Amino acid sequence: MELVFATNNQHKLRELQQILGDSICLLSLKDIGCEEEIPENQETLEGNASEKSFFIYNKYGYNCFADDTGLEIEALNGEPGVYSARYAGEEKSADANMQKVLRKLSEIKNRNARFRTVISLVIDGEETQFEGIVDGAILEVRKGMEGFGYDPIFQPNGFKESFAEMDAEQKNEISHRGRAVQKLVQFLTRTSS
Ligand code: IMP
Repeated sequence: MELVFATNNQHKLRELQQILGDSICLLSLKDIGCEEEIPENQETLEGNASEKSFFIYNKYGYNCFADDTGLEIEALNGEPGVYSARYAGEEKSADANMQKVLRKLSEIKNRNARFRTVISLVIDGEETQFEGIVDGAILEVRKGMEGFGYDPIFQPNGFKESFAEMDAEQKNEISHRGRAVQKLVQFLTRTSS
């Protein structure tokens, strides 16, 4: 079975192809000749993931899945959530985004936060969604150099390290995206066998 992963991130694509093995052939947006920007205009992670996967299915005719992720901070009523990438502005600077979070939480004791990923899979026009969550806390200062985005200020519950102090394998095992992907893989392995 051929399946499009609506991403331009070759790293994410390769990693998933390895997990899925030979039964499913993953295609990138480039592989199907899609060079346009995919709309992401919704106000929820569910809505955005869905919008992206249906855009590809409807316009290009491929079965497809897409993901969307947000950092949800309890004391900020779930901010930055769906706006995580551009929290501090359209330039999408990880540095400025972290600075904004630390400033907003500077007088606040409740540091509870979680990362949440939603994957929308569309096969023959029918959608299934998968969710992955990792609970944790926002640190007072940045720690670590690995990863990307908010990793230096997020410490998953049960660990002494921030995400940016973990290697990719360790992070993938417990991360929001890792957990959502595990559910997707289980579903695909069941339906394609
Ligand atoms: P996306 O939906 O995967 O593009 O994620 C949206 C934004 O959420 C990213 O631009 C990052 O700011 C943040 N983000 C997503 N996943 C992670 C992660 O694993 N660590 C840190 N930040 C993340």
